[in-house]
Amino acid sequence: MFEIEKLTENVSVLLAPVNIGFIFDSLSSKVYIVDTGNSDDYPRKIMKKASELNVEIGGIINTHAHEDHIGGNSFLQKRTNCRIYATHFESFFIEEPILMAMYLYGAMPFDELIKKLREPKGSHVTDIIGPDNIGELEKTGLKNLKFIPLPGHSFDMVGITTEDGVFFIADSLVSRQVVDKYGVFFLTDVGKHLETLHGLKNWNFDDVSWIVPSHGKILRTSSKEDMKEFYDMITLNIQRIDEVCNVILQVCNQPATLEDLLRVVSSKYNSNMSQTQYLILLQTIKIYLNYLKARGMISFDFDGLHYTYIRK
Ligand SMILES: [Zn+2]
Repeated sequence: MFEIEKLTENVSVLLAPVNIGFIFDSLSSKVYIVDTGNSDDYPRKIMKKASELNVEIGGIINTHAHEDHIGGNSFLQKRTNCRIYATHFESFFIEEPILMAMYLYGAMPFDELIKKLREPKGSHVTDIIGPDNIGELEKTGLKNLKFIPLPGHSFDMVGITTEDGVFFIADSLVSRQVVDKYGVFFLTDVGKHLETLHGLKNWNFDDVSWIVPSHGKILRTSSKEDMKEFYDMITLNIQRIDEVCNVILQVCNQPATLEDLLRVVSSKYNSNMSQTQYLILLQTIKIYLNYLKARGMISFDFDGLHYTYIRK
């Protein structure tokens, strides 16, 4: 844990439950950090490695605003005054992490819940980035870095491709273990997530040597086994989404409330949820309902007290 693996001349990864990217700018001897983990351990290790490698931290690039990706932001920014790069929509959650807890709970959560949701400290996003805008990185040796939209798991998540062939794919693929453990994984947009998965499936990896997911094993594109694992994971993710859609549609054969859906979905996949898992599942079921409604497969009714969902 917290071993550094050099992938290419300019890219290393600090291997941990949340893999942390180190992208070096040879022109300025600065390093740009991809995501910052979920505890104070991460920024301490990141600073230690940067100092061992004799580089200054120039900036943090956040792929998205989940707590395990922005947890070290405040610590690092306070100590190094580094820039923070993030997409427009994610930037609000990075600046005000309570918004994520509010998104999950649907209102300002009570104190115990805020603690459970492990709300990180806010930090200041200095540069809004996107596929056509890399912020101040334009002025560095990393001007050929590209931000790849990967929405669906989070509102406006991005991946990163580097000039020397590393593709950081953030949380766009959920590992087999997570699919098995949680059953229904968190999504903010089912349709966009499916597009992201199909985009990865059809991606041209000619200029990519390494695929770096935020969690789990780094994959080498020249390895047949690694690429088999990559495509198998995409298939598994798509299959699970289809399966959840079908479970929801089945329940909606009769008019169903959110509670009805929650009962059936949780008993199928995860009947002993923590409070956090409960909130994640509840919001994700709503997102599935939006998707099925947009595709004309269900309609909803409101009886003055409940929404009910029914298959069309
Ligand atoms: Zn995430």
